[in-house]
Amino acid sequence: MKIYSAPFVLTMNESNEVIESGGIVVDQNIIDVGSTDSLKQHYPDAEIISFDNHVLMPGLINTHMHSGFLRGTAEGLKLWDWLRLFIDPMHRVLQPKDAEIASWLCYGEGILSGTTTFVDMWRFLDGSARAAEQLGNRAVLVPYVGEHPDYNYFETLDTNEALIDNWLGKANGRIMPWVGMEHLFYFTEDACKRAIDMANRYRVGLHTHVGESQAEVREIAQRYGLRPVHAMDKLGFLDLDTVLFAHCVWLDEAEISLMANRSIGVAHNPTSNLKLASGIAPVTRMLKAGVHVGIGCDGEKENNNLDLFEEMKFAGLVAKHRETDATAGDAWDVLRMATIDGSRAIGLGDEIGSIEAGKKADIIAVRTDTPRTTPLMKGDLFNLHYNLVYAVQGGDVDWVMCDGNELVRDKKLTNANMDDIRHEVQNCAEQLFERRADWLNRNQQEVDNVQFSDD
Ligand SMILES: [Zn+2]
Repeated sequence: MKIYSAPFVLTMNESNEVIESGGIVVDQNIIDVGSTDSLKQHYPDAEIISFDNHVLMPGLINTHMHSGFLRGTAEGLKLWDWLRLFIDPMHRVLQPKDAEIASWLCYGEGILSGTTTFVDMWRFLDGSARAAEQLGNRAVLVPYVGEHPDYNYFETLDTNEALIDNWLGKANGRIMPWVGMEHLFYFTEDACKRAIDMANRYRVGLHTHVGESQAEVREIAQRYGLRPVHAMDKLGFLDLDTVLFAHCVWLDEAEISLMANRSIGVAHNPTSNLKLASGIAPVTRMLKAGVHVGIGCDGEKENNNLDLFEEMKFAGLVAKHRETDATAGDAWDVLRMATIDGSRAIGLGDEIGSIEAGKKADIIAVRTDTPRTTPLMKGDLFNLHYNLVYAVQGGDVDWVMCDGNELVRDKKLTNANMDDIRHEVQNCAEQLFERRADWLNRNQQEVDNVQFSDD
């Protein structure tokens, strides 16, 4: 049993309590939280581990990302050219070993910047499960499933079911395979039924992209005569226990209240939405309605990093911009999205997302002695939460624990060597781009003929 103590413990409990000179008692899980002095009295045999000039806070929860390594190679393109020339060809030539090393890179990068839980929509996820098992993070693994004659080069519901069979409950429950649907367009109605049945049978969540673009809203209206969330409801998706929608930029009031009533989680991805010019999600309205909104960074290709501290800052800024109201994007609301609200969005609100007795020990230590966190004030001028959202960067994270195990010590991964991972990614990326060029050469006509109406 150990007591981790620091000048500040940011609990993210129901009242956003911050304990000064606080400590966290950990024995695999969190046993107790309080002032370090009182904890020392209650647990006299516990080893004390002190972090000077740090805040201890819950590990961050990235509610939507895609492993990958296209970063910086598909820039400044219209959405359709981006899909047609980069994303689709990449999916067609991606091999399992590329997919696995991409997860090692992305989870490693995220862990080093304070993320302990990732919702990863990706492919060949056995490799991603192995990466998470060994790196030590939590991973909700969601295959990019396409079950439609036009999208036959993705994962299938069969491979999704195999993933669930192989990994459900593994690594002390840190590996959480879910049912994935790339997008409603990628599924026939029969596939929708089977996906819902599978999520119910295994009691796992379902994750998909919803309401990302106006073109999608028009397309769904044509196909189903309904707006996206109502179409998902009619098909039965909203009856599932745990459902997470990424983006939700283009929602109307009726969709927001339906989602609040049915406890649908949302992954808000402000950087991706800005970069792909998708629009800005109505997060202030969703929070007011009671929707559980978490934060995601989306893929490395549309962000281009996996730093959730940066994503928090963007979440705060875009909320103010959307509402033309500087009081929107409240720093506490944003911190809650990256922690406890994110945990609720993925159905893990009782287990992670805050520092409270009985919860899993997912804890990070963030430096508070950097130029960007100075000054640090107490009392009426208390500013730690503003510093965390608007000033801190992922590189200020020194130490990371997940499920009671140390994943980062002195800014280094404890379970892997990031230099080795980077070298392997470099090799795989160069080969992947050669195969992509080859595929594009062989399929030029098909690529040129693709039609899309995103104007
Ligand atoms: Zn996405």
